[in-house]
Amino acid sequence: VTVRKLTTRLVLLASFAAVAAVFADDEAPFRGAPDRPLLVSKVALDLDVDLLGKSVAGTAVLDLQATRDLKTLRLDAVGLDVASVSDDARSLTFVNDGQSLTIARPLARGEAVHLKVAYAVHDPREGLHFFQPTRAEPDLPVQMWSQGESQASRAWFPCVDEPGIRMKTEITARVPEGFLALANGALASEETQGKRRVFRWVQEKPHAPYLVSLVVGKFFVGRETWRGKPVTFYVPEKNAKDVGRAFGRTRAMLDFFSERFGVEYPWDKYAQVCCEQFNGGMENTSCTTLDESPLHDERSHLDFDPEDLVAHELSHQWWGDLVTCRDWAHIWLNEGFATYCEALWDEKKNGAEGKDELEFDLYQMSARARDGVCKTRPVVDHRFLDPEGLFDDRAYPKGAWILHGLRRRLGDDAFFRSLTRYLKANAYGTVETVDLRRAFEAEAGESLERYFHDATERPAHVALDVSVSWDDAAQVLSVLVKQTQAGDPFDVSAVFAAGGSPETATRVRVQAREKETRVQIPLAAAPLYWRFDADEGVLGELVEHKSDEQWLLQLAKDPHPIGRIRAVNALAERNTPPAIEAIAKALMEDRFWGVSAEAARALGRAQGDAARDALVKALAHPRPAVRKAAVEALAGFKDEPVIGEALELLLEHGDPSYYVEAQALLATAQVESKNARLWLMKGLDRPSQDDVIRVHAIQGLAALEDPGLIPTLETAASLGPIRGRRAAVSALASLAALPGVAEADRKRVVRELVGFLDAGVLRLRGAVIEALSGLGKDSEPGLDALDRLARYDSDKDLREAAKKAAEAIRSGTTPAREHSRLRAQSSRLQESHESLLRRIEILEAKGAH
Ligand SMILES: [Zn+2]
Repeated sequence: VTVRKLTTRLVLLASFAAVAAVFADDEAPFRGAPDRPLLVSKVALDLDVDLLGKSVAGTAVLDLQATRDLKTLRLDAVGLDVASVSDDARSLTFVNDGQSLTIARPLARGEAVHLKVAYAVHDPREGLHFFQPTRAEPDLPVQMWSQGESQASRAWFPCVDEPGIRMKTEITARVPEGFLALANGALASEETQGKRRVFRWVQEKPHAPYLVSLVVGKFFVGRETWRGKPVTFYVPEKNAKDVGRAFGRTRAMLDFFSERFGVEYPWDKYAQVCCEQFNGGMENTSCTTLDESPLHDERSHLDFDPEDLVAHELSHQWWGDLVTCRDWAHIWLNEGFATYCEALWDEKKNGAEGKDELEFDLYQMSARARDGVCKTRPVVDHRFLDPEGLFDDRAYPKGAWILHGLRRRLGDDAFFRSLTRYLKANAYGTVETVDLRRAFEAEAGESLERYFHDATERPAHVALDVSVSWDDAAQVLSVLVKQTQAGDPFDVSAVFAAGGSPETATRVRVQAREKETRVQIPLAAAPLYWRFDADEGVLGELVEHKSDEQWLLQLAKDPHPIGRIRAVNALAERNTPPAIEAIAKALMEDRFWGVSAEAARALGRAQGDAARDALVKALAHPRPAVRKAAVEALAGFKDEPVIGEALELLLEHGDPSYYVEAQALLATAQVESKNARLWLMKGLDRPSQDDVIRVHAIQGLAALEDPGLIPTLETAASLGPIRGRRAAVSALASLAALPGVAEADRKRVVRELVGFLDAGVLRLRGAVIEALSGLGKDSEPGLDALDRLARYDSDKDLREAAKKAAEAIRSGTTPAREHSRLRAQSSRLQESHESLLRRIEILEAKGAH
């Protein structure tokens, strides 16, 4: 999910992201790749799928070979009900402890065995996920999908469940008539046998166990071909008309990635299937599983783009599927690449603006790549309790930055040649970070050991402080580069540019490998323009000491959007009238929308009448993203009736973009505009993509902090589309926590929230867990339901969240109420502070007269 579940699956449940951080741990034991006594060359599954009974039953046939003499064979098998195990000659005795299968079959080094396991899986907690309509959720489809990464394939078939294993797969799925089964590889046959429809999918090229996929459901199927291979799209029937908007450029991406990577798309087909309640996307070999987020209507096509997700998962077919990390410590080799490929596709598809889009993507990633766990743990981390904990900002944005840094350091030619070399050398194999380094070193002809050490084996990033001084007599510019981070210096290689303007600037590559580096550059005159890391290739913090005049020139003329954004941010801190004027100009006139959006944010921070007026003007900017940024910035101004009026005017006329309109609705509540409540109530009934307008209206109603709105939100939580209900659950919790709420009302809200869990409204459980947790001790009636989720829920993150919520409730803290009490207190303090100031002003005025 794209702020989304912490896996390959980009994560939408941002609030649960924190849960994963507990897995990365100094105290955890060192973990390398596991021993590999058994090689698996093929797994063939033949499974009868009982969708309503939530079970599968059949056989797994494994081709195994011993790498050393073995007395017994051990397979990963979690929660499987195993009936028998046999080889070609006889049936074998085995022990099934619920985690693994130990089979009494000695094997000599090099000896192969053909093992047949008859087994069944009933309503598993992970691995396979079943859906069907219920009384509480009658709109759900009958469907099943698998999710293997990182360690859940073992929960639906016996295997050696390690990313370093590579095997062929063959999946025969027997499903009810009318249903489709989709799995990896080519469709070898499809036929009716009795009352079953039987699909046989064969994946001849070996892949890793976590990439094995089986999806069963009823779908509309869109069909195309690319270089003779099927390219297919499986979506819910109701979304048939949305296929083109969501996936229309898949074939263009196949062309582009094949050409850019220097290795043609390697698998037999490419299918994308949109599944019920899936979390983001998962790059199962030749058949990516996705949530329904790419499917969108015509109006949201104006400013919604699912292609980041589509490109991410498609690129994984090379990075992750064709070459796979040997163990999870090197997961950035999968996720860093796929994340960088989102930016590569942005660069490609935007033509002349592509370079700007690429840089802006990296700029946006850099904040996350420098924060949180990236500051404390290295990218390649051998200390973890659960591999899921490694799918975080180190693997994704920081991984992407490591690649981008290499591209800027070595140049495009050497960079892409290295990628091709690495792919070709390791195709259908497994890799560690050193394999990538060696490919780069071979193409670039230079040692990259220190770069890789800094980037992948150390936590955190470089902090640079750069200043210059001009020696007029010698006509020399002295550049002083200081590294201000604690500890060792980083190996920095960056372009320094200086001159009268960006076009005429002298460019020099500067190596800064010590805590202080001095460089002398002869120039014809003192430079009005200078920039360190002029082509934006270094992940780090950068402080440059420049005059206002220099920043103004940089904002006006720097060819790189990030150069202009750096100027915007520096000028916003100066907050002088000419600085604000220049930022306001960039807001309306910069040639790249990303700079304008950053200008809006900077003006929001700067505050003041001039900033406000510029932002109100920007509500008419042609780019929806800039209008949305302007609305968000305006929401931070207090006591400004003119802003409320402008927002209400926008709502009255409507905006072509759902997302601008939704944000404006929420903003009316944030700035307490005169008719905010009226607009928000109206917003409850406005249809929109993913109910984004209704969701923002509900959030706005919560922001009004009026306990009188509880009944309205109770209705919104019980009825209507699920996203609105989810938002209403959160809104109810925050209103119920307000100090003025009657005890009886609060108790009723808790009862209703628990009722959703008891009734089995599964799509609300994440929101309810969070809501109950927020209400603390008042949520005691929900403890039974939370304990149940903590133990049995099929979503690992939700199990963890339910457990934490139950602990918080038992410990008797009431975070939401505490929070709102503190907030009330601080606004009271603010008020008394302001009244004090006013009184001082009056006294001073009196004194002056
Ligand atoms: Zn991914």
